[in-house]
Amino acid sequence: MTAQLIDGNAIARQLRADVARRTAALKAKGITPGLAVILVGEDPASQVYVGKKVQACAEAGLHSVLEKYDATLSEADLLARVQALNADPAIHGILVQLPLPAHIDAHKVIEAIAPTKDVDGFHIASAGALMTGMPGFWSCTPYGCIKLLESTGIELRGKHAVVIGRSNNVGKPMALMLLQKNATVTICHSATRNLKAHTLQADVIVAAVGKPNTLTADMVKPGAVVIDVGMNRNAQGKLCGDVDFAGVREVAGWITPVPGGVGPMTVTMLLVNTLEAAERGLP
Ligand code: NAP
Repeated sequence: MTAQLIDGNAIARQLRADVARRTAALKAKGITPGLAVILVGEDPASQVYVGKKVQACAEAGLHSVLEKYDATLSEADLLARVQALNADPAIHGILVQLPLPAHIDAHKVIEAIAPTKDVDGFHIASAGALMTGMPGFWSCTPYGCIKLLESTGIELRGKHAVVIGRSNNVGKPMALMLLQKNATVTICHSATRNLKAHTLQADVIVAAVGKPNTLTADMVKPGAVVIDVGMNRNAQGKLCGDVDFAGVREVAGWITPVPGGVGPMTVTMLLVNTLEAAERGLP
């Protein structure tokens, strides 16, 4: 079997076109969805990420503000900026780019964001809302994976999903989202014994580990859906995921490539969340 490709670029394009349509409709009512992005320090990868976020906002018609600060910014000053943005009616979503410099408590900063503006979905209120099935913002990367899974038309209800990785930003929320979609969920991590025994049972596998070739063809049930969240560099310096793509695509039913799978969805879901934050404010 050669797996069908789940094209993250194409799905992201469709979703962004929908965001642009809904944004135009909101603007006609006098509301422009606004995102504030805060970057502290000079981390090169973070600079690229925030640039992409601001550009995506512009392309979809959202208002965005990029606040760049020197790495010496104090925690108190950053908290004051977050509070000011919480009170700013032109801003519906606030994103503080991580990692922050070591002298700033990232947890404290994220918790200072108003939950109604927590479009990254990292606030404890957002995590709690996801856990209890209440309305709230879903964090962007796992939310994007749900959209990719939905694009296949495969019903998640009753399926066995195995999530590899239990980080707070990907693995755990991914597992909770799959649970909310009525999948039966297994979470694997670095202390899991015999990972292969788990993945071979799975109808859906989400790999979010950060190590190339964590999932190989012998670990996949024929026809399974494989979502690769990993973003790694291989020995040749080429971008690759956690999945041995060439091998697994011969066994899986559906598979995401890297690049062009989960990657484009993360920024897309940030736009969706920001738009929805603005829509929620409607009378
Ligand atoms: P992380 O915080 O380092 O978490 C990695 C997880 O993998 C941990 O739970 C760890 O287990 C588990 N793990 C490590 N080795 C394992 C093994 N041999 N078998 C099973 N589980 C193992 O990483 P993350 O933030 O979740 O990110 C994971 C990957 O996704 C990275 O490559 C990252 O770059 C990528 N990512 C991509 C996007 C995107 O937009 N495409 C967004 C976010 C992240 P323990 O908990 O036991 O340590």
